[in-house]
Amino acid sequence: MFMKIALQGLFPEELQALCKEAGQPAFRGGQLWQWVQVQGATDWEQMGNLPKALKAELAATHTPAPAKILRESGDPGGTRKWLVGLDDGESIETVLIPARDRNTVCVSTQVGCRMGCVFCASAKCGFARGLSAGEIVAQVQLVAAALGQRPDNIVYMGMGEPFDNYDEVLKSIHILNHPDGLNVGARRITISTCGVSSGIRRLAEEGLQVEMSVSLHAANAELRRKLMPIENKYPMDALLRECADYTAKTKRHITFEYTLIRGVNDSVRDAEELAGRLRRFPCRVNLIPLSPVEEFAGEAPARDAMDAFLRILEKRGVEGTLRESKGKGVDAACGQLRRRNPPAGG
Ligand code: SF4
Repeated sequence: MFMKIALQGLFPEELQALCKEAGQPAFRGGQLWQWVQVQGATDWEQMGNLPKALKAELAATHTPAPAKILRESGDPGGTRKWLVGLDDGESIETVLIPARDRNTVCVSTQVGCRMGCVFCASAKCGFARGLSAGEIVAQVQLVAAALGQRPDNIVYMGMGEPFDNYDEVLKSIHILNHPDGLNVGARRITISTCGVSSGIRRLAEEGLQVEMSVSLHAANAELRRKLMPIENKYPMDALLRECADYTAKTKRHITFEYTLIRGVNDSVRDAEELAGRLRRFPCRVNLIPLSPVEEFAGEAPARDAMDAFLRILEKRGVEGTLRESKGKGVDAACGQLRRRNPPAGG
């Protein structure tokens, strides 16, 4: 299917080249960038200082509206979740997680996901395609418009595995971080991977100040293989070696995500084993109570069991936090909203 190119995914110099190809001076590209990245325009009509003929020509192949809100849900805690429709009829999810002092946007990077984590609703949706950089940036712009201000933090933690769509993800980060655009600081951007070692290795070479988190969800390979098929491709021992190299090369911490599932990975032994493996390099662990998903029969442990797990990590020298499970009322686990509202024919 022919898809128009999202203007949100083009650098200023690419927009300039586009305008020049259309027989217009390069400064028109700068005006386009201003409209799309600074004003958040999603309609050609808004771009009053651009010639009509240029807009008509570009509109045949490019769009300022690659992502549209189809549905919104929210909960009393303030979390807002949008089902976002794309040009080809597919849909993804974007989430706003407000906290006292900052707003965090969680963006999707793919339509569905092929990593197959057993407790994840996105995995149950199957996989359609990776998102373009423009479709990723457009999600942030949608949230900025809803908020009336630029979000403070961006996490690449929605549907999809960012390193399975590496080039578009990196391009979107450079655009979001661009000083003449939204200018979101690199340190305020987090990429979350389920453990694609090749992506970790590439990111270490980029010289970017972004944060990285790695989903472990198990303290040993045997259990991890049952929860996350990625373990078969990138085994835990090699993954942790890659993580250690990453911290040595970048001088940055890694955050490990660990979803706590009652009776599966929440025992004292699990905590001790996890601490033993992670003690050797600079990291912290985010403990997340499992969000219920219809297709997975697990549940979060009791609060005191989760507190005990955290205490063991800390006693053994591994810093950790126990996250609140945000937005239980808004189909909070990634992929749930889309799963309940599949695209036509999806
Ligand atoms: S948890 Fe993340 S990597 Fe795993 S299937 Fe879901 S979206 Fe993909």
